[in-house]
Amino acid sequence: MAHEAMTQAPPRTGPLTLHGHDVEGVNRCVHCGLCLSYCPTFSILGTEMDSPRGRIFLIKALAEGRLALTDATVSHLDLCLGCRACEPVCPSGVPYGQLIEAARADIERQRPGGPLRRLFRWVNFAVLLPNPRLLGLAAAGLRFYQISGLQRLTRASGVLKLLPSPLADWEPLLPVIPPADERAPLIPITPAEGVKRARVGMLTGCIQQIAFGSQNRATARVLARNGIEVAAPPEQTCCGALHAHAGEHDLALTLAKRTIEVFEVGNVDRVVVNTSGCGAHMKGYGTLLAGDPAWRERARIFSSRVRDLAELLAEEPLRGPLGSVRKTVTYHDPCHIVHGQKISKAPRELLAQIPGLTVVPLTEADRCCGSAGTYNLTQPEMARQLQARKVAHIRETGAEAVVTANPGCIIQIAQGLEAAGAPVKVLHLVELLDDNHGYRLYQAVSRLKESLSRADEATFLFEGGSVPCSARKSCSADPATSFTSRAASGTRSGMPGMMKRACWRSFRLPDSRSTSRNC
Ligand code: SF4
Ligand code: SF4
Repeated sequence: MAHEAMTQAPPRTGPLTLHGHDVEGVNRCVHCGLCLSYCPTFSILGTEMDSPRGRIFLIKALAEGRLALTDATVSHLDLCLGCRACEPVCPSGVPYGQLIEAARADIERQRPGGPLRRLFRWVNFAVLLPNPRLLGLAAAGLRFYQISGLQRLTRASGVLKLLPSPLADWEPLLPVIPPADERAPLIPITPAEGVKRARVGMLTGCIQQIAFGSQNRATARVLARNGIEVAAPPEQTCCGALHAHAGEHDLALTLAKRTIEVFEVGNVDRVVVNTSGCGAHMKGYGTLLAGDPAWRERARIFSSRVRDLAELLAEEPLRGPLGSVRKTVTYHDPCHIVHGQKISKAPRELLAQIPGLTVVPLTEADRCCGSAGTYNLTQPEMARQLQARKVAHIRETGAEAVVTANPGCIIQIAQGLEAAGAPVKVLHLVELLDDNHGYRLYQAVSRLKESLSRADEATFLFEGGSVPCSARKSCSADPATSFTSRAASGTRSGMPGMMKRACWRSFRLPDSRSTSRNC
């Protein structure tokens, strides 16, 4: 037990910190225990140190220097899902999410692990996630593995059993990578249809874009259909949520600043997010950067503009015509929407507007499914128990589909349902809304419109300057000339086919900054 290493607290002045992070919030805990029954790990293990109260005690002792970072302490803290189910029920307002992120940053600092672990984390957190191009290449490799038969062969041959435990556990959790068209970045501007209600920036995300690009496109279509113009800046990268949750604090700060910068220039009313962890994290930029005078105010303003997709859409009734969807579905609340952002009514209100749809309640709808960012990779046993519990509750409902709003939950629940042989679909809320608008047909039309409108959208982005193309050699046309002349005349005809991808991605801005545009 962690108690073995407890010592007397040394004298202290100033606020309580851990690895430079303010953890003064531990002192708000009055040990009432009201949070215990809401904690998924305490519910399963029943041990105090695997409850919010126990972990707060450990974090406080660590920060006061009374406790060394023993294996036992790390294990109790690592087992926390970071689901934040303990936050809304706490009468003292303990900011548990901040405390566990500080603890994780301290664990990473004190115990970075061996060279292989450090390399693995560096490749993922520092190289792939912040770099959409490299992430795209990795996705293409994974897609090849999945469609070439290699994956089937690997699974059938039993070679996975020879791999070290975490790797064997991770393979079944790999998301199915869609074709390149779906993974391609969104067009920079999706115009509003009908009377314009707002102009929003959209976070397309890192994993979300390569694994669930179709949901991003559906999001832009649904917003446009509801009178909201969508700007998806091509310069955006990962928002840093995965980094913060995994203790990569410095990278999380860098990515937060980059995200703020990208959306500041877009002149948007709101920044909309269709993934729960990213939304909750971006709403917390104000707190994350509170100690940096140069960024404090910018971060606060940015955070005040962030909206979850359902939160934004539910501000007004859905615009019709609304088609009928004759399905019975149930709804699973992603932790970082229901606990992290305190949103539970909005998605249900949207579902209630769909004619013909029957929504049946789900037992423990707001309990974590075990995905929790990278938790199902690092704590597979606990993740499996929570997954099995979630799947059992879903099956009890008799629903044809479970609706949720987070890629991690979708992968985790779908994998659990498949393993249990349950023929239940898992849908993102926006897919159902998209279907509801009759967008199956609309999708084909919008793809055509997308390719035809690229010139106009690019005009918007590059307003005021000629745009020489750095990939001119590979193109028979003169992209700069034809591009600017089209922009000037407003005509959309005569666009060379090869400009749609290769050249259009390689434009160089007038100030010589290289850019990866998907014009
Ligand atoms: S509910 Fe809040 S005050 Fe009570 S034990 Fe849990 S964290 Fe502490
Ligand atoms: S974040 Fe979730 S798992 Fe962690 S202590 Fe709170 S309720 Fe328990």
